[in-house]
Amino acid sequence: TDPAVIRNFCIIAHIDHGKSTLADRMLQLTEVVEQRQMRAQYLDRMDIERERGITIKSQAVRLPWDLDDTSHILNMIDTPGHVDFTYEVSRSLAACEGCVLLVDAAQGIEAQTLANLYLAMENDLTIIPVLNKIDLPAAQPEKFAAELAHLIGCDVSDVLKVSAKTGEGVAELLDEVVRKVPAPVGVAEAPARAMIFDSVYDSYRGVVTYVKVVDGRLGKRERIQMMSSGATHELLEIGTNSPEMTAAAGLAVGEVGYLITGVKDVRQSRVGDTITLMKGGATEALGGYKDPKPMVFSGLYPLDGSDYPDLRDALDKLQLNDAALSYEPETSAALGFGFRVGFLGLLHLEVVRERLEREFGLDLIATAPNVVYGVTMEDGTEHTVTNPSEFPSGKIDEVREPVVRATLIAPSEFIGAIMELCQTRRGSLQGMDYLSEDRVELRYSLPLAEIVFDFFDALKSKTRGYASLDYEPTGEQAADLVKVDILLHGDKVDAFSAIVHKDKAYAYGVRMATKLRELIPRQQFEVPIQAAVGSRVIARETVRAIRKDVLSKCYGGDISRKRKLLEKQKEGKKRMKVVGRVEVPQEAFIAALSSD
Ligand code: GDP
Ligand code: MG
Repeated sequence: TDPAVIRNFCIIAHIDHGKSTLADRMLQLTEVVEQRQMRAQYLDRMDIERERGITIKSQAVRLPWDLDDTSHILNMIDTPGHVDFTYEVSRSLAACEGCVLLVDAAQGIEAQTLANLYLAMENDLTIIPVLNKIDLPAAQPEKFAAELAHLIGCDVSDVLKVSAKTGEGVAELLDEVVRKVPAPVGVAEAPARAMIFDSVYDSYRGVVTYVKVVDGRLGKRERIQMMSSGATHELLEIGTNSPEMTAAAGLAVGEVGYLITGVKDVRQSRVGDTITLMKGGATEALGGYKDPKPMVFSGLYPLDGSDYPDLRDALDKLQLNDAALSYEPETSAALGFGFRVGFLGLLHLEVVRERLEREFGLDLIATAPNVVYGVTMEDGTEHTVTNPSEFPSGKIDEVREPVVRATLIAPSEFIGAIMELCQTRRGSLQGMDYLSEDRVELRYSLPLAEIVFDFFDALKSKTRGYASLDYEPTGEQAADLVKVDILLHGDKVDAFSAIVHKDKAYAYGVRMATKLRELIPRQQFEVPIQAAVGSRVIARETVRAIRKDVLSKCYGGDISRKRKLLEKQKEGKKRMKVVGRVEVPQEAFIAALSSD
């Protein structure tokens, strides 16, 4: 194909602004999907994506579109919309020359609109501003067209207005894509270079890798090389999605498509990597490759200890399709055998957990999520802490925690509430701009740990659901952090250790001690529950003793009744966990871990 007729573009939008619906309309209009096969959110293939209406994995579809008697090929790349997957979004964007910036005409610009716009600008994409949902009675197209035009610095008349629901304006939008988005440029005669922007595991075909060919050409049966690792593979199949996979002889400059090499694990075909040919290959990789780095960790334990091997198998399987998922075995006195699992963020954690429970039928306990801490000791040794119970003891020089740049957008009446929330979360205001007279954008630097817990819920409730939030990691900073341990009868309960800011240690200690006092049944002896920082106790509660003598009820009478009671007591013990001398029902730990 002549690169001059190719247009590679993506749709970027805040969640629920209608990206998937617009993609559906484009599939229909270009007639690549037959009317009777059309179903809502055609491209969102994973069950969880459909149910939650979010896009996790991006997909590329090839759409034919004629304008002014010329047949064009539009490659539409549906990007994941959530903050956890920013890196994947940025790679999808790097495969494009233009983007459709889609904004809900009843909502206006939201935090992810901005985050995605910035990524698009960093990638030098041509931006086509579009207001969606103009069919809604609550739509305010004039107001938000002005907002959008002001934001990207274009004329209000350049803002297109569509309804992805009714299809109004969508054909004109495709025309605009052909007119405005530049054709890809690359050197046909140069050694082949293709960028991987997505990589998906398929149980029948192995890993399907999505690429954009930047220079040269990739052909079937050729031997390709991954530039980050040097690994080589044979190209078993190459082709395009229209939208089902259609094999071809090869992909040339500017083309977007898929390839299959028979590898079984997405980690061998990583997003952001450059593919070249083994013979006569390129020497310089395309820029922008990054290893996915887990930002949030949580311990995952099977409720029933005998499910441990199943949990390991399930994680192995998920990892085939998720290069960002990492895990290693860990044991906990309170919870038994499990894994410490690393995630890109909270949504990633939730999705993985849900898949483990739903697709693999596992019942899981998850410890409270924590971020990664860097610790420098006074003697100069460095530690990376992914599990609070492994926080080093001894003389500590400095503790560092990850920080993010957060963008919050809300009606201006909520400025005070948002500032107050960010203040209590150790945030510092970096800037503030009015998007229109009654909507404001606030930029904060915040510790990731403060966002990981219930920040989003708190924000929603303080702003009646009107605020939106997006954030991206910017690095780490030193902070006054301490480890709080929870002790039962003098023994540490590993699952409850937490790293918190010094000013919040007391509150955490009191909260956990009170919770546990309510949950732990009385024992034959008094059980002190303590919260401690190092050897200093900061909070204490007591579970008072009882004499737990089940036989006293029977007056030594009926012997079979006596035996039954003894057996019942034994049964009950099975689900008990023993911490030092104290027996605790597993349910108590689970209840204490669940956030409220
Ligand atoms: P995404 O999260 O950006 O992919 O958004 P979806 O495509 O899943 O759309 C979110 C919701 O908005 C769905 O309930 C859609 O049916 C609805 N929606 C999308 N486009 C329109 C539109 O043009 N008009 C109306 N009335 N609803 C729309
Ligand atoms: Mg979607």
